[in-house]
Amino acid sequence: MKTIAILGSTGSIGTQSIDVAQKRGYKVAALTAHSNAELLERQARLLKPEKVALYDENAAKDLKIKLRDTNVEVLSGMQGICECAAVSSADTVINSIVGMAGLRPTLAVINAGKQLALANKESLVAGGKLVTESARKNGVPILPVDSEHSAIFQCLQGKPSNRALKKIILTASGGPFFGKTKSELENVTAADALKHPNWSMGAKITIDSATMFNKGLELIEAVWLFGVEPSMVDIVVHRESIVHSMVEYDDNAVIAQLGLPDMRIPIQYALTYPERYASPVEEIDFASVAKLTFYKPDYDTFRCINICRSAIDKGGLAPAAVNSANEEINRLFREGKVRFNDIPDLITEGASAAPNMESYTADDIDETDKVVRSAVLSAISRKD
Ligand code: NDP
Ligand code: MG
Repeated sequence: MKTIAILGSTGSIGTQSIDVAQKRGYKVAALTAHSNAELLERQARLLKPEKVALYDENAAKDLKIKLRDTNVEVLSGMQGICECAAVSSADTVINSIVGMAGLRPTLAVINAGKQLALANKESLVAGGKLVTESARKNGVPILPVDSEHSAIFQCLQGKPSNRALKKIILTASGGPFFGKTKSELENVTAADALKHPNWSMGAKITIDSATMFNKGLELIEAVWLFGVEPSMVDIVVHRESIVHSMVEYDDNAVIAQLGLPDMRIPIQYALTYPERYASPVEEIDFASVAKLTFYKPDYDTFRCINICRSAIDKGGLAPAAVNSANEEINRLFREGKVRFNDIPDLITEGASAAPNMESYTADDIDETDKVVRSAVLSAISRKD
């Protein structure tokens, strides 16, 4: 029987991963979250893991009391999460933590020699070289959970051994503000941005979809996962979210992966690869979908995509810097402290405070994160 661990188990991907694990009959050895002790308690009682961890120390104390009648070991802090990431009985660990906080756990899974089912794109964006080099050294596969990257991974199965891959085509839903002009976006709020047309996801990624920073993150994620040049990754807006991404070969044959927008397909594929099994997701009824549309992204209105493209072209810590700037600004936008149209300039300004380094350690990334977040806060206070 397969044994897994789920980091970020209380979130959107985490709860869907539990659903998949239960339907497949997997054993769950560890679960982690930030501070949601109530839901983690319920999950622990249901799945009986060996260990659980909460990042927040007080919430972990509370959870320890809640679970005192069980055999579940309750850990806390980043160290506790990394201990769960390396839990000895798990073969595969799903990292569905949101944000840069997923970096150390990603490295902990790899260093423990376990298969990594990766939803946490920020760890790959911030530490791409570090993560992929340690995965290679430890002989650990990184199985993508992000729907576009799962699609690309699926399209690459059976790829010829010669250099036949010409292009990766990432599809983007366009988010809630597709077709809007800059002036129409002047006064949009976080509540408007949180209304995603096709996907139900956590708040941070939903805002990233509205700014299309998410597609920039996914461009960088694709570069690291598939070892391609950034110029080989194209982006096309596809409103229906039925085609999850495509690859184009040298002969101009394009292979696409299609399905209803439901993350349980990519989550399950990352856990069962290379096999496939029945899933709880419904079939596509093509006649009712009727048509599939494709548009060029509006790079002037959604400038975050090219901010990410420039960062990966620059390399070194530049992707980590734009990621940290975005995380801070994303939070401030949700708190109503930043205007939607100011987001791209604030990201560029905050990220410019980062040191320039070609090779880096996890500590360098953490240091960059601190410097950039404080640069963002001072840029905002100058604006007020
Ligand atoms: P959610 O916000 O729904 O869940 C985030 C999870 O991470 C929660 O379990 C949360 O715990 C935990 N967490 C938050 N901050 C920390 C921290 N500092 N340290 C440890 N744990 C933390 O996010 P999503 O599930 O939407 O997204 C998770 C990841 O998957 C992101 O990287 C996202 O980009 C990626 N992804 C998500 C998709 C989706 O459909 N949702 C699609 C493709 C990729 P708590 O509940 O206690 O706060
Ligand atoms: Mg995606």
